[in-house]
Amino acid sequence: MDRRSFLHGSAALTGLSLLQGCAKHVAAPALATASALPFYDLPGNILPIRADVDRIFRITVCLRPFRAVGPRMDVVKVGDKTVVTNYGHGGSGWSLSWGSADVVVRKAMEAAPGVKECAVIGAGALGLTTALTAQRMGYKVTIYAKETAPYIRSVRATGSWTPDSRVALSTDAPADFAALWERMARTSWTMYNSYLGVAGSPIEWTDRYQLSDDPPRDRNRPVDPNTAADPADRTKQVHEFARYSQSIADITPKSKDMPPGSTPFPTKYVRRNSSLTFNVAGYAKLLMQEFYLAGGRLEMREFHSPNEFASLKESVVFCCTGYDSKALWSDQSIVPVRGQIAWLIPQEGVNYGIGYKGLNLLARRDGIVVQPNIGGEEEGWNDSNETPDHAAAEAGVKILQELYSRMEPIIAKRGTKVTA
Ligand SMILES: Cc1cc2nc3c(=O)[nH]c(=O)nc-3n(C[C@H](O)[C@H](O)[C@H](O)COP(=O)(O)OP(=O)(O)OC[C@H]3O[C@@H](n4cnc5c(N)ncnc54)[C@H](O)[C@@H]3O)c2cc1C
Repeated sequence: MDRRSFLHGSAALTGLSLLQGCAKHVAAPALATASALPFYDLPGNILPIRADVDRIFRITVCLRPFRAVGPRMDVVKVGDKTVVTNYGHGGSGWSLSWGSADVVVRKAMEAAPGVKECAVIGAGALGLTTALTAQRMGYKVTIYAKETAPYIRSVRATGSWTPDSRVALSTDAPADFAALWERMARTSWTMYNSYLGVAGSPIEWTDRYQLSDDPPRDRNRPVDPNTAADPADRTKQVHEFARYSQSIADITPKSKDMPPGSTPFPTKYVRRNSSLTFNVAGYAKLLMQEFYLAGGRLEMREFHSPNEFASLKESVVFCCTGYDSKALWSDQSIVPVRGQIAWLIPQEGVNYGIGYKGLNLLARRDGIVVQPNIGGEEEGWNDSNETPDHAAAEAGVKILQELYSRMEPIIAKRGTKVTA
């Protein structure tokens, strides 16, 4: 067998071959184990990712705007302006954006009834969705921002449905935040569903595989950092991040432990689930287009203090300035949580995600996200350094190389050739 050729090795093909009476191409172990999965639930083709450091086409760094008490969604009077803040969503900004926008726009309508014109400061995940939500509720909207995509932090996100990723600390979040979070998550979920099947697939469902040689852990269950096998689990968890995903279990697909041999992955344990992928480059463009189509205006402008909002013609102002709110509002409650991504050139037909040895990977249409997360959720805590770390980026790709090298003999043994 030519070991250099790409090989499918997917249980889907194995199962299909079986049904079609082509069992001679399938090695015995795969045959026995793949049958443990029902035919209708076989994984699709799992093609290897071309994990070569030469395929890194950019390295980005982003700061999660984390607040221990959760996002700031307050109505404040600044001079004669009604200002509604909408910032501090940690690692959940895209996921909660529509729900958060819905909350703040309703607050503005209540605080300043009858006003039909508003300003939105910021054009990131929160600014764009707030502007669109305000338009849908009848406002004439102008966005004021010092930068737009592709220069803003939001476009440097992983692009995954992660509504309770570093969104608050369980010790500090107010008791009623859990209900507010659930409301935001459900509203966002409904909105994201409305972008499925749209041309260019700005939002789509993809499979994720958690790979480990030790039994996979439940994210909500603490692990012993002294004995954990996964490097990410070896980090002492100093902060107790709030977890709310249980309250939306009814809309969240369940994880499934894959029977041995049902995937080409080489680890002892493979846990699969399905989640939403946000192809952020296209999605952010689409949101901007929708904003213009609905009559929105954009003005490039920087504010150095909330007092400068006085110069705006609009009396209602939504402030969606993300991490920069720390300086703008002198808000010391914001902690930067740094995250870096190495972007590999996207590959046709590769659209899955994996978690392996502290590495998060998500193959999107606009790039393959390789995110070392060795420190787990503590990674990047209180680190505002936005300079890319090239060595860390390459180290992440090398973890992938090791994984795919381990995979090669398994795929070869399965004997299912690929002409990708
Ligand atoms: C590595 C990484 C991965 C992530 N992955 C995910 C994920 O998979 N899913 C998810 O839901 N979330 C994820 N996040 C979190 C998410 O990216 C953030 O929560 C989100 O981008 C915050 O958006 P924002 O609109 O508040 O801020 P920003 O994107 O920073 O936008 C702020 C806007 O305000 C403007 N602005 C700022 N200050 C001023 C000023 N003074 N005057 C005028 N304009 C101003 C900026 O120019 C910009 O337009 C991730 C974060 C990181 C770091």
